[in-house]
Amino acid sequence: MSALSSLALPHVAAMHAYTPGLQPTEPGWVKLNTNECPYPPSPRAAEAVIAELANGGEKLRLYPDPKATPLRRLVAKLHGHGLTEANALIGNGSDDVLNLLVRVFGGPSAPISVTLPSYSLYPVLITIQDGKCAPVEFDRSMKLPIEKLAATPARACFLTSPNAPTGVGFTNAEISELLAKFPGILVLDETYAPFAKENAVGLLAANPRLVITRTLSKAQGLAGIRLGYCLAHPEIIDLLDRVRDSYNVNRLSQAAAHAALQDTGYYDAIIGKIIRTRDYWFSEYTARGWFTYESQSNFLFTEPRNAKGEAGPAVAKSLYDFFVSKKILVRAFPSHPLTASFLRISVGTDEEMLAVNDAIEAWLKA
Ligand code: PMP
Repeated sequence: MSALSSLALPHVAAMHAYTPGLQPTEPGWVKLNTNECPYPPSPRAAEAVIAELANGGEKLRLYPDPKATPLRRLVAKLHGHGLTEANALIGNGSDDVLNLLVRVFGGPSAPISVTLPSYSLYPVLITIQDGKCAPVEFDRSMKLPIEKLAATPARACFLTSPNAPTGVGFTNAEISELLAKFPGILVLDETYAPFAKENAVGLLAANPRLVITRTLSKAQGLAGIRLGYCLAHPEIIDLLDRVRDSYNVNRLSQAAAHAALQDTGYYDAIIGKIIRTRDYWFSEYTARGWFTYESQSNFLFTEPRNAKGEAGPAVAKSLYDFFVSKKILVRAFPSHPLTASFLRISVGTDEEMLAVNDAIEAWLKA
């Protein structure tokens, strides 16, 4: 360890950063590796940013609204169920909100349980706070391991529903059962809920230990503005506000998000289209004999088979590499036995999905 690193806190010196999906800068890629929206955001988002930049950007002199109060009010209203601005907190992406939750509920004396596989940022955020991670393994069925989750000594549990990278959604009956059996805070990461059959917002009123996180990065096509939020009991929102950067969401992002979220008709159409595309290709991959989890998200997690009918980590890697040679980016998860044979393909436009299919046909012939 270098002299500089030895001055860092030991748990930071020993940790690895989160590895985000590749973000190629050169054009020409079919980019289906980070579950972004294949369609542009509501035009109202850019209009709002341009309006915010009026008069030579003179408003940029001023700090943004520290609490993003109009946005808190708006997301609460849009979700209904009697929620108010006191139930909402806005973040610089939902990653920011997840980080705040770890700051409040995690640390050396407060383990947080996470499921494996799931979003691999959670253990990184927990490690940053020198916290303890209590991992709970799924099995290949990817059914929610309620009893195992309830049995951990964790103060909080981070659960993704629909899960990533599998796309499998959990029912409100399962979430309610977990809340009844697990006495801690349940952070339900609903990043992909706009594409799901069900979401747990209706459970909030009766379950003060439930926190739901959401993002505008997927369904709203606004990953570039970094805007996420959580919905929770006002006491939890108050705790999160204590550990938040005072101005955690910039002025342009607040304006874009506020305008986009109100364009519900635009987004209903986009979400409907993504779901139809997803379900079509789910059937196609399944018809190939590729085991594919039934997805409630905007991606498909599929186990490719080569021309000999073989599946496995080497087969998944072979297709991944072939895709790269065709300038198609998907995501591979080689480090866990339950995911290593699979590839995660974000749902793209019809044209992009056909390009993927053509590449699969060429790989099978190669
Ligand atoms: N949770 C999950 C499960 C995700 O897949 C992602 C996106 N990679 C996030 C949270 C983070 O989303 P955001 O862009 O809002 O930070």
